Amino acid sequence: MAGNGQLVFAPLGGVGEIGMNLSIYGLGDERRRQWLIVDVGVSFAAEEHLPGIDLMFPDIRYLLAERKNIAGIVLTHAHEDHFGALFDLWPQLKVPVYTTPFTAALIEAKRLSEPGAPEVEVKVVPLGGRFNVGNFDVELVSMAHSIPEANALFIRTPHGNVLHTGDWKLDPTPVVGLPTDEAKLRRLGEEGVLAVVGDSTNAVRDGRSPSEADVSRTLAQLIAEAPARVAVAAFASNVARVRSVAEAAIAAGREVVVVGRAMERIVQIARETGYLDGLPDFRGPDVYGYLPPDKVVALCTGSQGEPRAALSRIAQDDHPDITLAHGDWVIFSSRTIPGNEKAVSSVVNGLIDQGVRVITDRTHLVHVSGHPRIAEVEEMLSWVKPQILVPVHGEALHLNEHAAIGRRLEIKTIVKCRNGDLVRLAPGAPHLVDELPTGRVYKDGALLIPAESRTIADRRRLSFVGMVTVALAVTEKGVLAADPEVELIGIPEKGRDGLPLTDVALDAVLDTYESIPKARRRDPDSLAESVRRGVRSALAQQWGKKPVCFVHVLTV
Ligand SMILES: [Zn+2]
Ligand SMILES: [Zn+2]
Repeated sequence: MAGNGQLVFAPLGGVGEIGMNLSIYGLGDERRRQWLIVDVGVSFAAEEHLPGIDLMFPDIRYLLAERKNIAGIVLTHAHEDHFGALFDLWPQLKVPVYTTPFTAALIEAKRLSEPGAPEVEVKVVPLGGRFNVGNFDVELVSMAHSIPEANALFIRTPHGNVLHTGDWKLDPTPVVGLPTDEAKLRRLGEEGVLAVVGDSTNAVRDGRSPSEADVSRTLAQLIAEAPARVAVAAFASNVARVRSVAEAAIAAGREVVVVGRAMERIVQIARETGYLDGLPDFRGPDVYGYLPPDKVVALCTGSQGEPRAALSRIAQDDHPDITLAHGDWVIFSSRTIPGNEKAVSSVVNGLIDQGVRVITDRTHLVHVSGHPRIAEVEEMLSWVKPQILVPVHGEALHLNEHAAIGRRLEIKTIVKCRNGDLVRLAPGAPHLVDELPTGRVYKDGALLIPAESRTIADRRRLSFVGMVTVALAVTEKGVLAADPEVELIGIPEKGRDGLPLTDVALDAVLDTYESIPKARRRDPDSLAESVRRGVRSALAQQWGKKPVCFVHVLTV
């Protein structure tokens, strides 16, 4: 064991931002540390800022350089912001991945559905299990959350023990899975906790989150009252919600029809792992049309307005099996993730235009967060009594409020760190010892590209102003060998004076050519640059904007 070294911690993603959680712990001395990676998460890009980009990952440059010293990866749970970058980043790391059965089953199902996905080396560990990853002695603590099998990690080291909470809440009645293991947390508190690295998501909210069981009751009531068809949209990974909808349906004498691939997949995995035990089989969308309206509940994907998901297609009356009509109800058993508001409201409006009643968490308790509010954070910290609190998993505001809770509880040291900050937790007072390279990587088609590359900036510029290409063939003496060719892409057809802009551009090419001295016509670079300027300024006069312009000069 690394007896005389240090215990260090650094977030490489997820601190100061929402999503793409990836943290590392290091044991050993400065020159040679062994690393444990906790979570490999993804973020979803907002289309309008990053044209063509759907996914973002943390930049793991540092880990690639340290690859030989990485003992393994532990995944706390199967939410995308914790495991969604695994298939894209693992092939560069190729270290064993430790996780519990449900998360492992999801990885396998995802692998089978994604052609070319890597065969990640997964080591399945039991709930509450204790195992070694290199020099790290890791014990899992079951936590309640909005997906089965969320785990905190208790990491025992010669320098002290760290509780890495992952995502959690205190919910005594989580509907599926285990409640947060209070007894174990209290025991670990007795054993001694150096540091808590904890979830800040809801540290801005007073009191306690309602229980998943409260949502279950509301859903049961609504589904019992509904006069005709009911569709419920939920996050597919929320198996407790799936179970609640199914139980409500059975109680109301209705059948559950599962709609959407992500939902089918999660239902299958939840069946295999026992989380839907005791419930009858669900039906496929093909039987929907044959069931009387008051005998069916459709459980759908698409709660975030995803254009290809089931609910969007239903809202556009474009789904092959599922239709809704006047008097039917749709329940959004979900929260709209910031950035998805427009997409969700377009689905809601589509449904309302069909005469459907839309129910959301604005008026009914049909959704709860999976993250702890202030009273829950306080209670958990009072069980484990850490000397150090490191707020993670949140933006500046959330981290700040989480830190404030720690100060109120008189926790000795609050560590404020951001992505890339390498913090020595022990021995000695916690201290920033290094800044590791960090950043974002975009998934562009099949490629990973650094966020600071020009690609996306260029693409954004093109999306605002369009492009002109000009092809000129000139002889060695600089004489035009053919008529120039001009192509306009993403540019209006006619200018201020009603002239076709293609003609304006073509005239500008010829005028520029005529206007420059004969000697310079022979220099292709100089000719190209003059034409480029001429075309841009002529178009700017007619349009009020300058496009991107490429001029190719061919010497024939
Ligand atoms: Zn989560
Ligand atoms: Zn999370």
